[in-house]
Amino acid sequence: MATSRAPDACRVLVVGAGLTGSLCACLLRRTFRDKVDLVVWDKARGTGGRMSTYRPPDPSYQPVDLGAQYVTATREYARAHHSFYSELLAAGVLRPLDCAVEGLRAKEGAVDYVAPLGMGAVVKHFLKQSGARVFLEHHLSGVYRRGASWEVRRKEGGDGQSFDALLLTIPVPQILQLQGDLKDVLSDRQKQLLQGVSYSSRFALALFFAPGTDLGVPWAVRYFNNYNEDDGGGGEPRIVCYAAVEPRKRAAEEEAGRGPALVVHTGAPFGLRHLESDAEAVRPVVLRELRRLLPDLPEPVAVKCHKWRYSQVASAADGCPGHMVLSDRPPLVLAGDAFTHSNFDGCVASALSALAALGNLV
Ligand SMILES: Cc1cc2nc3c(=O)[nH]c(=O)nc-3n(C[C@H](O)[C@H](O)[C@H](O)COP(=O)(O)OP(=O)(O)OC[C@H]3O[C@@H](n4cnc5c(N)ncnc54)[C@H](O)[C@@H]3O)c2cc1C
Repeated sequence: MATSRAPDACRVLVVGAGLTGSLCACLLRRTFRDKVDLVVWDKARGTGGRMSTYRPPDPSYQPVDLGAQYVTATREYARAHHSFYSELLAAGVLRPLDCAVEGLRAKEGAVDYVAPLGMGAVVKHFLKQSGARVFLEHHLSGVYRRGASWEVRRKEGGDGQSFDALLLTIPVPQILQLQGDLKDVLSDRQKQLLQGVSYSSRFALALFFAPGTDLGVPWAVRYFNNYNEDDGGGGEPRIVCYAAVEPRKRAAEEEAGRGPALVVHTGAPFGLRHLESDAEAVRPVVLRELRRLLPDLPEPVAVKCHKWRYSQVASAADGCPGHMVLSDRPPLVLAGDAFTHSNFDGCVASALSALAALGNLV
C-alpha cells in the first residue's frame, strides 16, 4: 500500500516488526492516515519476530513456523477482537484449523485458526496495511532525547536519526540493554516492573524430509505430556513437548518437489536448563529424545535448530494496561506481549492500548 505523507507528518518509529509492531503500525495508519510518517525497524533479516515463517535456503524444503503455531480465539477474545479475526479470515491469511490435534484438551468455546501461508503472513498482512517503510537489519542500540524529538542509533553504525515519537515492541530485556537516555526517563517503579518481566526459553527444531516421505504418524499436531510416563509422572520434565507436521497442520497439499517437515518444540524446563548452550549442541539431544518418542520416524534430509531465548512471557509487567508510557513529550511508549500475555490476542490487546496512549500524537 503506497501512502502519501503530509509535509508536517509526525515521524513515528516503531521498533520491532513482530506481531505487536505490525499491528501498532497498522492501527496508527488507520487512525492518523497521512498525518503520520511511519518507519519500522527490525534487527532481523525478515519480519515476523516470534511469529515468523522460516523459509529454508533449499527451495525443496518446506517453509515452517518455528515460533507461533496457530491462533486460539477464546469466546471472549473472538468477540472483543472480532474485527481482526474477520479481516484475516476474509483476506485468507487465517482459516479454521481442521486437523487432528492430539494430547491437548480443547478450551470450551475456543476456535483454532491456522495460517495457510505460514504465521509470518499474519504479520506481513498488517505491515502491508500500514504502508510503513520497513527497514530490516536495523538494530536499535541507543535512544537519546534531543529537545522535542528522539534520536535513535543503530548497532550497525551510521548517523543517528530523529523521530517525533518512538514505539518499542521488542522483548523487555532488550529494552533494558539500550544505551542512552532510557535509564533517565524510567521511573523507579517502571524499572522495577520491567525487571520483573520474565520469559520462558525453548528450542525449536525443523526436520525436513525428502519429497513423498510418509512420516508414519496419524496426527498433524501432537502435544506430549509434560512428564515422562515411564517414571509415574513425577520425574524429569519431558524434553519434547510439541510436534507438528507441515504442511498437514495448515491443511495444505505438499507442493510438487517439496517433502514434509516436522516441527518440534522443547519444553520450557529443558530450554531453561540449556539456555546458554549452543543450538547445535542441543540438537542431537532433542533428536535422540524424538527418536525415543517416535521410533518409526524416517531419517530427515536436513535439520534446523533454533533457540528462542525469549519464547513466551512467564511473568508479565504487573498491573500495566497493555503498554507503558516512558515519556509523553516527545512520546516514547513500550508495547508487546510482556504487557499482556503471549499469543495473538495478547499482542492485539497491547497494540490497541498503545494506540490509545498515542491518541493525542498529532
Ligand atoms: C516457540 C513459540 C511458540 C509459540 N506459540 C504460539 C502459538 O501457537 N500461538 C500464539 O498465538 N502465540 C504463540 N507464541 C507467542 C507469540 O509468538 C508471541 O506472543 C508474539 O509473536 C509476540 O510478538 P511481539 O511483536 O510482541 O514480539 P516479537 O515477535 O518478539 O517481535 C519483536 C521484534 O523485535 C525485534 N528486535 C528485538 N530487539 C531489537 C532491536 N534492538 N532493534 C530492532 N529490532 C529488535 C526482533 O527481531 C523481533 O522481530 C509462541 C512463541 C514461541 C517463541
